[in-house]
Amino acid sequence: MSTVFYSHPACRLHDMGRGHPECPARLDAITDHLRATGLDTALTLHDAPMATPAQLARAHSSGYVSEVCDLLQGLAASGERHAFDPDTSASPGTYGAVMHAAGAAVAATDDVLAGRASNAFCAVRPPGHHATRDATMGFCFFNNVAVAARHALHEHGLERVAIIDFDVHHGNGTEDIVAGDERILMCSFFQHPLYPYSGTEPKGRNMVNVPLPPYTRGPAMRAAVQDQWLPALEIFAPQMVFISAGFDAHREDELGQMGLVEADYEWLTQQLLVVAAKHAQGRIVSCLEGGYSLSALARSVAAHLRVLAGLA
Ligand SMILES: [Zn+2]
Repeated sequence: MSTVFYSHPACRLHDMGRGHPECPARLDAITDHLRATGLDTALTLHDAPMATPAQLARAHSSGYVSEVCDLLQGLAASGERHAFDPDTSASPGTYGAVMHAAGAAVAATDDVLAGRASNAFCAVRPPGHHATRDATMGFCFFNNVAVAARHALHEHGLERVAIIDFDVHHGNGTEDIVAGDERILMCSFFQHPLYPYSGTEPKGRNMVNVPLPPYTRGPAMRAAVQDQWLPALEIFAPQMVFISAGFDAHREDELGQMGLVEADYEWLTQQLLVVAAKHAQGRIVSCLEGGYSLSALARSVAAHLRVLAGLA
């Protein structure tokens, strides 16, 4: 049994414009670092398939899925660009990227639930956790993690899954999709105040939202996780753990002002591994969200992967 690493070349072809922080080089930084450190040899590397519209429609309205897919396929054919909202624009390569990004999360879920892998990490872009049921937002088109969580519930018959979100930004899109769905427990922390300025008033009883002030460092984050996430996870006893793995709470990342370092991501991953081992037969699917300092992103993903792969 191994840790599967899903990605796809198409995820590099989504381009939001020169100088945009959510750039293809993020994936290059991750794969270069894995190769340079030899960590890639400890992983099983897979190219992600495309998600299907039916899979996407488990987290989004079918009207939204067909509208976005039609528009993105049009851009792929015409070579044009389109701005969906002030933060989220699409290029000709976006259609392939979004479909392979969500498809990675779904395929990783299938692998882990079939016992073909212990756990999985999806190095994909665009990210997903700001995408709501009916709207793009904050660099996100489809909510990869919510799609995968619902896939586990609907296709595999699981009854309880957890979504953990440690991106520096509140996962408002995931909350929009899963709040009130008692089969899902969502635990997150996020810097507040910071974009998208939500999360302080949870939208459902199944949300454990932990706003943290700017300049929060590892010890305070760890205390919050121990006090607020872990007891809720212990009671909920998830049968599978999904992670919205954003690494922009790193102290070198300029999109947030938190002070986490690689050792904090290692610790976080260990805590989640313990939860998964106790309740979920070790089943974890982690998907890349944010993380914009290329070096810090690569080092943090490696720290996360070393724990998932049992090397740390
Ligand atoms: Zn973020």
